[in-house]
Amino acid sequence: MRQIHSISLLLIVSASLLAQESPKAKQSGHEDTNKFRQMYDLLATPNMYRTASGAPGPEYYQQQADYKMDVELDDKNQKLYGTETITYHNNAKEQLDYLWVQLDQNQNARASLSPLAQSNKPEASIGIQGFSRKYLEEKFDGGFKIEYIKDASGKPLTYTINQTMMRIDLPKPLLHGEKISFSIKWWYNINDYMIVGGRSGYEHFPKDGNNLYILAQFYPRMAVYNDVEGWQNMQFWGSGEFALPFGNFEVNITVPSDHIIEATGMLQNRKEVFTTDQLKRYALAEKTYDKPVVVVTQEEATAKESSFSDQKKTWKFKADNVRDFGIASSRKFIYDAMAVKLGGKDVMAVSVYPKEGNPLWGEYSTRAVAHTLKSYSSHTFDFPYPKAVSVNAQDQGMEYPMICWNFGRPEEDGTYSDRIKFGMIGVIIHEVGHNFFPMIVNSDERQWTWMDEGLNTFMQYLAEMSWDANYPVGRGPAKSIVPYMSGDQASLEPIMSNSESIKQFGNNAYGKPAAGLNILRETIMGRELFDFAFKTYANRWKFKHPTPEDFFRTMEDASAMDIDFFIRGWFYTTDFTDIGVKEVKRFYVTEQKPKDVKAEEPSIRKKVTTAGAQVYMIAEDSKELNPSAKKAFDIKNVKPLDEFLQANFSAEERAKLKAPKYFYQVTFDKPGGLVMPLIVELTFEDGTVVNQVFPAQIWRMNDKEVTRTFATEKIIKKIVVDPKLETADIDLTNNTWPKEEQKSKFD
Ligand SMILES: [Zn+2]
Repeated sequence: MRQIHSISLLLIVSASLLAQESPKAKQSGHEDTNKFRQMYDLLATPNMYRTASGAPGPEYYQQQADYKMDVELDDKNQKLYGTETITYHNNAKEQLDYLWVQLDQNQNARASLSPLAQSNKPEASIGIQGFSRKYLEEKFDGGFKIEYIKDASGKPLTYTINQTMMRIDLPKPLLHGEKISFSIKWWYNINDYMIVGGRSGYEHFPKDGNNLYILAQFYPRMAVYNDVEGWQNMQFWGSGEFALPFGNFEVNITVPSDHIIEATGMLQNRKEVFTTDQLKRYALAEKTYDKPVVVVTQEEATAKESSFSDQKKTWKFKADNVRDFGIASSRKFIYDAMAVKLGGKDVMAVSVYPKEGNPLWGEYSTRAVAHTLKSYSSHTFDFPYPKAVSVNAQDQGMEYPMICWNFGRPEEDGTYSDRIKFGMIGVIIHEVGHNFFPMIVNSDERQWTWMDEGLNTFMQYLAEMSWDANYPVGRGPAKSIVPYMSGDQASLEPIMSNSESIKQFGNNAYGKPAAGLNILRETIMGRELFDFAFKTYANRWKFKHPTPEDFFRTMEDASAMDIDFFIRGWFYTTDFTDIGVKEVKRFYVTEQKPKDVKAEEPSIRKKVTTAGAQVYMIAEDSKELNPSAKKAFDIKNVKPLDEFLQANFSAEERAKLKAPKYFYQVTFDKPGGLVMPLIVELTFEDGTVVNQVFPAQIWRMNDKEVTRTFATEKIIKKIVVDPKLETADIDLTNNTWPKEEQKSKFD
């Protein structure tokens, strides 16, 4: 789903200085807190299901759930009726005594505990409709009404409903390799999601009296059973989305005959539901790769808005190897489509939208679908499904296999701002992109929101940048997450937190993981290593159920980059980046031997030993420094060194030697808890600039402070740490030497 950006105030966290320890204080022992220690304390132990390399192991298995469904939409009363036969295959070695089925619509039931599990207080200001709904009216009667559950021979099965989960007791255990078929008959009242909320339901158009349905979580769905959770039967409280097994679907959907439908899967009876003209236009779209072809026109859709047919039509869909099924239905739908070539195969990019979406939707939606499929495929695998559909639904951003709901409409006069346009393209890229994560790389959304939202937001950023280099991107770049990471620690929790326990959902599960992946790609691993590893993860786990460990391990396994320090800090803590320049000292090279120097000032003297002779490097503020030595370094002025070079190098070789003139000792401190590469930009007095990057491992011996010597040919005028804002450094006031007056953050 899509999270709207929230703006939080930039809070600068003051850098705390290390407490000075008395050298004589007796040291007690301490645990290993080194930032580079390996993550054995945090990761699940590898096993035969999931290997230490991050790949599926030889004993890896997953369950399969196939569905045959007949669904009927009662548009007049906004009810949905269905019967389904589920065939469940037990591929686990162990037997199952019962099955768990998800009843997500029960989150809308009158007895739902979800609203009771939230604290609330009286609103300072509330709309009258909202007040009436909250304090006066009876709660909407959503929730599944289960009419029967029967086995294949028609015998009733016993079942127990616990909120959004239903346990079906099996007459005899389901053994390894066996399957069982059973049928469920159900119906429910469809919610007006603009009033009741939810990721599915209908939108009512008062002007013409029509409804636009987006139907999802609309049927009892099998829970996941696997080697990690056993049954993943954690309740649906409303935030943590879904965990679903793969299977094959055959779904017949009966709707008023003037409706147009799109759904997961390939339509099996297009000739029965499209007009002759529409069939011809669809055939043209199947061969058109450069622009969308309108299949159901705005004129056709508008003409039907007042027909309200009593006749019915059944649309038949088939989908193989999908984890879920979604339906969009309305007589308001305009329909356009084009073909996309991916890996030598044609995929259909499709959009359905009411006239209220035009001219924006006709222009951009299907093009954005096509672009997304190409961009994501290039970073993962060729999109394996035959189509991807974008449905215009007010205020929605939600994904299902091959179909998704997206917001974004122009003003009533058809005009729109860039904000509306890019917001709409962004949500389409995001939701279509979810086909890859988590519809195909099928992570457990109920447990880990970041595994699909974070990876998908990162991929969305890449797709937006390739759509338009000037795209007004939101989440993705490292600097975009600074306001969040510098916020009050009490409002933060690690990315590795359960989906239901996240305070700032969008920042924690979308923005921060996306920024983290960008830091890995741009700054820590480099694009080549990162892209190969990311692609390896996607290919290892497509059509499977990966865990966080599988992702982290694969990223290391395929790159030879030990990123435990980054994963530990970025994903498992709320630490932030803050690295600064603490001190800069110039050093002079001399033959003059300094007098004995006290032991606590070792930095005052650095020896360079050559052939028995020595030169000395003395800090500018040292009393040992003879004022006459205070000049730019020239080999000719250091006799033993000059003699050494003459004796050991030919003239030609000497000409190639470096010729540093100035020596600087630069001390960098790190008030922030996160470890990052140290990116240093040196500006010289003639305006030229040099960048030097030290790997994050520079911090492995001392996590608070490191020192480097820079030998340069020109005088350094300025030193900046992380000049391109690649590391999400939350406090830039200490990043520059000499200290600069900071521009107001409100500029
Ligand atoms: Zn999403």
